[in-house]
Amino acid sequence: MPGGQYQVMSTKFHHSLYSLTDSSDAGPEDEEPEAPVRLTPLQKLTMDMCKDEKTIKELIIGRRVGFYKVRGEIGQGTFSRVKLAFNALTKDKVALKILDKARLDSQAHRLLSREISSMESLQHPNVIRLYEVLETPSRLYLVLEYAGGGDLHNKICNEGKLSDNTSKITFAQILSAIKYMHNINIIHRDLKAENVLFTSSSCVKVADFGFSTRVSNRSVTLDTYCGSPPYAAPELFMDECYLGPPVDVWAMGVLLFFMVTGTMPFRAETMGKLRRNIIKGIYTLPPWVPGPCQRLIRGILKPVPAERYAVDQMLGCDWLLPVEFPWSLVPPEPTNALQSLLESECRDLEEEEEIRSSLEELGFTTQHLQNNQLNDSRSPVTGVYRILLHQSQKRRGCDSPPVVRGMVRDPKREGLRAYRGLRHTSKFCVLS
Ligand code: ATP
Ligand code: MG
Repeated sequence: MPGGQYQVMSTKFHHSLYSLTDSSDAGPEDEEPEAPVRLTPLQKLTMDMCKDEKTIKELIIGRRVGFYKVRGEIGQGTFSRVKLAFNALTKDKVALKILDKARLDSQAHRLLSREISSMESLQHPNVIRLYEVLETPSRLYLVLEYAGGGDLHNKICNEGKLSDNTSKITFAQILSAIKYMHNINIIHRDLKAENVLFTSSSCVKVADFGFSTRVSNRSVTLDTYCGSPPYAAPELFMDECYLGPPVDVWAMGVLLFFMVTGTMPFRAETMGKLRRNIIKGIYTLPPWVPGPCQRLIRGILKPVPAERYAVDQMLGCDWLLPVEFPWSLVPPEPTNALQSLLESECRDLEEEEEIRSSLEELGFTTQHLQNNQLNDSRSPVTGVYRILLHQSQKRRGCDSPPVVRGMVRDPKREGLRAYRGLRHTSKFCVLS
C-alpha cells in the first residue's frame, strides 16, 4: 500500500478534506477508549497538516504547499519561479510554477487565467500537463507535470545542433502537439526552444501557455503581439491582424532551422534589422542540410501566411516519412471524470479501475469523490486523480517518443519497449 498505514491511539478520527480539520477532540470525555484506528495515507497527511508541528511549520515557510513538499528551484520565468516538488501521497515529482500575486498586474492576471484554462483543456503526450492550481493569500501555484530532461535551447547551446534523426523525432513531437492544440482551437503564440522541454526519457513536452489563446475557430483574426522577436512571424511586425495557426507554424520553422543547424535563421544587431530580415524572409540555409529538410523549412518560412505550409502539409512531408509515431492524440480526460469513476459500467475499463483502486488505497472514499467533480483544478482530489491518471497512461507507453524507421533501437530503453507493445493496439490517431 502506498505510503504504508499508520497507527495512532486516538478515540475517533473524522477528517474533512476541505477544512482539513478532524473531530477527534470533540467526543465526550467519559467515552470508552476505542481500539487503535488505522489511518489511511490521506488521513495521516491531513492530520499532520492540522496537528504536526513540523508539517505546520513547513506549510508556513513554504516548504509545503497543499499536498506538495517543495524542493529546489529548477527554472525562472518573467513572472514566475519554478520549483521541484513531490506529491506527499503519490510521491510523484511535479514542477511547481510559483507566481507572486503582488507582481501580477491586471494584464498578467488575464494571461495567467488563459494559461490555466488552455492547460486544463490539453491532454497530450507532448504537452506539459496541469495537475492542480493552488492559491495562498500571496501566491498562486500551478502544479505541472515535471520534465526532468532540460529544455531544447540549453541542449543545443551545450551540445550543438541535433542529428538528422534526433531532429526528426523532436520535430515530429512538437508538430503532434501543435496539431492537437490547433484542432481544439488553441494557439500557443510563444513557441521557442526555451519552451520545448524534455522528460528524462527524451519525450518532448511543449510548455508555457502564458501567451496562448483559444479562438472560436481557426479563421478568427488576432491582434495582440505575443512571443519572442526571433521566432515572430512577419505579419506580427506589420500592425495588422493575424491568423493564429500560421504564427505557430512560422515559429516551428525557426525551431526546425535551429535544431538542424544550431543557429537561428534570423539574427541581427538591432531590432529594426531583425524585423526587416523577417519581413523579407531573408535567411541562409547551409547546403549540407538534407534536401527533404530544406524543402520543409522553405515551405514553412514563407513570409506570406497564405503561402506558408499548413500543419497537415508538414505532417505529410518527405522528411518526416520515416517517423513511426505510436500516437498523436490521447483521448481527452472524460468531461465528467467523477462519473466515469463511479459508474459501474465503466469498471471494465482497466485504466479507470486502476485509478479508482489507487485512490481507495490512498484513502479517498466515494464520498470524497462525490464532493469533487475531478475537473476542478483547485481541488487536491483532482490533483491526485490527474497524477494517477497520467501515471497509468505512462505505464501504457503514452509518453514514448516516436522512432525513425531503420534506426537501431536500444532494447534497454523502457519507452521503446512500451511503444512496441502498443503499436498494433493503439486506439489513437496515428501521425500520418
Ligand atoms: P517566460 O514567459 O519568461 O518564458 P514563464 O514565467 O512563463 O516564463 P515558464 O517558461 O513556464 O515560465 O518556466 C520557466 C522555466 O522553468 C522554463 O524555461 C523551464 O526551465 C522551467 N520549467 C517550467 N516548467 C517546467 C516543467 N514542467 N518541468 C521542468 N522545468 C520547467
Ligand atoms: Mg518560458
